[in-house]
Amino acid sequence: MASKDYYKILGVEKSASADEIKSAYRRLAKKYHPDINPSEEAANKFKEINEAYEVLGDDKKRANYDQFGSADGPQFSGAGAGGFGDFFGGAGGGFSDIFSDIFSAFGGAGSSQRVMEKGDDIFLNLSLTFEEAVFGVEKIVTFSKIEKCSDCKGTGAKNGKEFVVCPDCRGTGRVRYQQNTMFGTTIREAGCTKCNATGKIIKEKCDQCGGKGYKKVQKTITVKVPAGIDDGQTIRMRGEGNAPLREGVNGELNIRVAVLKHKLFNRNGVDIYMDLYLPFTKLLLGGKVEIPTLKGDYTLTIPELTTSGTVMRLKNRGVKALNKDAYGDMLVTLKGEPPKVLDKATKKALEDLDSKIDVRNYVKYQNFLSKK
Ligand SMILES: [Zn+2]
Ligand SMILES: [Zn+2]
Repeated sequence: MASKDYYKILGVEKSASADEIKSAYRRLAKKYHPDINPSEEAANKFKEINEAYEVLGDDKKRANYDQFGSADGPQFSGAGAGGFGDFFGGAGGGFSDIFSDIFSAFGGAGSSQRVMEKGDDIFLNLSLTFEEAVFGVEKIVTFSKIEKCSDCKGTGAKNGKEFVVCPDCRGTGRVRYQQNTMFGTTIREAGCTKCNATGKIIKEKCDQCGGKGYKKVQKTITVKVPAGIDDGQTIRMRGEGNAPLREGVNGELNIRVAVLKHKLFNRNGVDIYMDLYLPFTKLLLGGKVEIPTLKGDYTLTIPELTTSGTVMRLKNRGVKALNKDAYGDMLVTLKGEPPKVLDKATKKALEDLDSKIDVRNYVKYQNFLSKK
C-alpha cells in the first residue's frame, strides 16, 4: 500500500509546528464536514483529513510516520483483549484502523461497486482517580454521535420503503457513457451517481432524519474500565463510534484515560513507589511502622542500622497487570529525616554519640576515605 502524504493532505510543510497542523486540520475539517458539505467527495476528503490528523496530530505517531512512513513505527502491536475492546499504549495500535479505513473507504478508481464505508471514530477523554485506574471502575460516559436512523433503517426513505427505481440506470446501479479520446470513442461503465449505485432513489423522505438516513444523538453508555489501566492508555470500543453516512460499519469509540496523582504513591507501570521519611533514629534503632498499601495497611519491619535510601520491596502489593492475574510490587524508599531544630541538649547528645562511635565502624565511609 502506497503511503499517503499526510502533510500534503493537510496542506502544511513537513516542518510545521503542532499548532500549525492543528489549525490547518480545524480549517479543513470545518470545510468538509458532512453537516456542512454533504457530498460524497467531501465525505471522502473529510475522512482523509481525519486520517492525516490522527497521525500528524500525535507527536509519537508523527515521529514514526516521518521515520518509517507509518504511524506505528517498524513493529506492529495488536494484542487483543477480552470483553470490551483492545487496549493500546501511546505507541502501539491505531494503524490497523487506519488501514481498514482506507481499505473500506476507497473502492478503487472508477469503481462501480457500492462503497462500504466505515463511520468516523470518536475520541473522548476520561479522567480517573488513582484508585479507579488501579482497581477498575464502571463509568457512565455521555457523548454525541451519528447514528443510523431507526425509522428508515438508514435508507432515508419513509418507513425504509418509499423508493422508486432510478431512472438514470433503470435500477441496475450502473451507467454506460461514451468517451471521446484521442484514440477514438470508448464506452465506459461506472456507478450511477444519481442513485449512488443503489439502483433506487427516494420517493418520499423519512421525516425523522430528513432523508439523510442518519441523525446526531446524545448517547450514554457504561464503560467498564479494567483494573490496571494506566495514564495515557486508550479503551477502544468497536462499533460505538459514528455510523457511516452511507452503508457500512460504525467507527470506533476511543476513550483516552488520564489518571490523577495519588497523595502518597507514584506509579510506574505495575509497580508502586513511595518515599517514606522516618526519624533518623528509627533507621538506626530499627522498629515497626504501619504504612498504607493497595492491599490495605501493612506493618513494615525496619532492621537496625538501616541506611537512608534503602528500598524495601513488598511483593505483589503493586498494581494488577491489565487483563492478567499478576501484580506488580510496592517499593518503599526509607529516608532518615533529621529533627527540624537542634537544641543545645540534643546537640550535646549527638556530639557524645559521635565521639562514642569509632570511625572505623563506618565501612562505606572508610572505603570512601581509602579511595579519595
Ligand atoms: Zn430516517
Ligand atoms: Zn441510478
